[in-house]
Amino acid sequence: MISSLVITDVNSVTREVFGNIAPWMRVVFFVMIAASIGVLVWQVVARLRLWRKGQPGGFERDWRVWIRRFVVYALAQKRVHRKALGALLHLLLFSGFVVLTIGTTLLAIAYDGPYYFHHGWYYLIYELTMDVFGVAFIVGCLLAMYRRAFQRKPSLGHNKSDWWLLGLLLSLGITGFVVEALRMHYTHVQPWVAHWSIVGWLIDATLLRDIDVVTAQTMHLWAWWLHTILVAVFFATIPVNRFLHVITGPLNIAARPERPMGKLVPLKMEEVERTGLIGVSEIEHFTRQQLLSLDSCMECGRCEDACPATATGKPLSPKAVVIDLRGLMSRGGELHGQTIRAETLWACTMCQACVQECPVLIGHVDLISDMRRHLVGQGKISGPPARALQQINSQSNPYGRPNSDRLAWAEGLDVPTVESNPDFDYLLWVGCAASFDPRAQKVARATAQLLKEVGLNFAVLGTEERCTGDPARRIGDEFLFQQLAQANVETLTRHKVKKIVTPCPHCYNTFKNEYPHFGGQYEVQHHSTVLAELVGAGRLSNGKGTGNGEPITLHDPCYLARVNGEVDATRTVVGAARDTQFREMPRCGKKTFCCGAGGGRMWFEEVPSQRVSVLRSQEAIATGARTLATACPFCLNMMTDGMAGTQGGENVKVLDIAELLLSRQASGARE
Ligand code: SF4
Ligand code: SF4
Repeated sequence: MISSLVITDVNSVTREVFGNIAPWMRVVFFVMIAASIGVLVWQVVARLRLWRKGQPGGFERDWRVWIRRFVVYALAQKRVHRKALGALLHLLLFSGFVVLTIGTTLLAIAYDGPYYFHHGWYYLIYELTMDVFGVAFIVGCLLAMYRRAFQRKPSLGHNKSDWWLLGLLLSLGITGFVVEALRMHYTHVQPWVAHWSIVGWLIDATLLRDIDVVTAQTMHLWAWWLHTILVAVFFATIPVNRFLHVITGPLNIAARPERPMGKLVPLKMEEVERTGLIGVSEIEHFTRQQLLSLDSCMECGRCEDACPATATGKPLSPKAVVIDLRGLMSRGGELHGQTIRAETLWACTMCQACVQECPVLIGHVDLISDMRRHLVGQGKISGPPARALQQINSQSNPYGRPNSDRLAWAEGLDVPTVESNPDFDYLLWVGCAASFDPRAQKVARATAQLLKEVGLNFAVLGTEERCTGDPARRIGDEFLFQQLAQANVETLTRHKVKKIVTPCPHCYNTFKNEYPHFGGQYEVQHHSTVLAELVGAGRLSNGKGTGNGEPITLHDPCYLARVNGEVDATRTVVGAARDTQFREMPRCGKKTFCCGAGGGRMWFEEVPSQRVSVLRSQEAIATGARTLATACPFCLNMMTDGMAGTQGGENVKVLDIAELLLSRQASGARE
């Protein structure tokens, strides 16, 4: 027996492999493991067949993107780290699982391969590493059990199978250490070697102290069999439990197409003509990548926790959408109505919070958008949103006002137009809300006044401006959107537009991320960045907040902050860094919370108890602010309504940053 000898040369240090296991048992072992891996592969192939039923393509083709994403999101688990306990336990489980799997594979190679390298310093470090990560794995399991038993967060989901899986993983970790300790006991490992297998040594030195060698060998055999059976069961059941994401998660992370968050996939009209399909009416109409993404969900609930629709009691959970579609892919059935209700699809504000949170990069908004396109294509939309679409179609704006009124907001301001100032540097794209909505018109006025005050060479399109098509596209009317995009690009080309500034984050996003597909390439800025540059250059006031010393907070619009990463300019304009009265809300910057207007929701009727703006208003009021600044005409409207419907909201003024800056200019509150 190798280790019963006194070893002084570190190079001779090693351990027995299968020492207590009879040859026939080893054969059974290899057959069992091979069979369980066979079952695993067979089931994964069955899933692969399901994904292949989807539309071809949809995968990222650049291998450099695959590698970068794999390292950032799969190995470093960038998004998992956002939640303290969940991140810790996932890190422990993941690192333990990976290291133990690699370690076991290395041992098998050393045992069966042409070279036996499992000795010396390699062996000692191997033993220590396996013990440390084995402990990490067990602690990860225990933390996961604690979270399920005591925290019981509803979004996590609480299936009996989760307990079964955690029990299996914990048993694997514990039996692994028991096998190690018993082996060390009956092989009399010398103390200085045993200390490198720290956990096995501790068990041996405490619990096994009085056990004789023969008993230890018998116990080792039983423990080894139990461990082996658990390993086989684990492999065979991976595809039917949450652990499937260990395979599918990294695949989806790597393969998801690289695209700006604010860009929806354009519908190809020639495809529509060829197939007669608009959007997704059956599960097979999703792309293969989308079907793979359904299988990559690990049911962590992060998307649901971030969703404003779920938070306000609407019939939508992004997690449930993914899981229900996955169930449909496996079991079959009707997509619309039976699996996903229309109310669920219409409840989405397309704020992208779910997409931002998902650790395996599932594109919930693309899924919802594809299904909405089908509903609109079938005419299954009615009431105010249908009217908004019809008005965009007939009047080029969702408010149903004649386009000849486009310049009503500018009355008395002598705003330059593309006719009166054809050599403009900046086109001020006003947007439908700031053109027609009485409250939002003040934003257009304030912006134009500020630009005039500093002498910026700008012009507006006036009656030639049309809706960018953002609400049409988000509601699901892709034809209308593309029609508007082409018409607007033609107009902008005719007027040789190079630079665009707009107070609307939705127009900003559409120009920046969606119009390039239609040949519209512009240097586009949201008004916050232009105003911040002017403040930075000392051409506009950089005084504090409202200039009256009252507390102020800022609501970041989703399509400015989360979707396009613009968070600094608004704060520069508000004077956040210099104002001791500036107060951030808990959900701010890129992690902002929706106002409830996006995804066409502006045009839907809502019962007061389900208004996202009320929830957001409560958050703003809790900061103690007396002014809520924002930078989007839709947010401005929603938050004004929200404040009106919230206790304490009557004391909070809602202003666009341009209005704030203008009032500061007017009051001469310079520093
Ligand atoms: S986009 Fe926003 S509203 Fe829609 S499902 Fe995701 S988090 Fe919910
Ligand atoms: S969709 Fe993503 S965030 Fe939501 S439960 Fe699944 S893995 Fe978690």
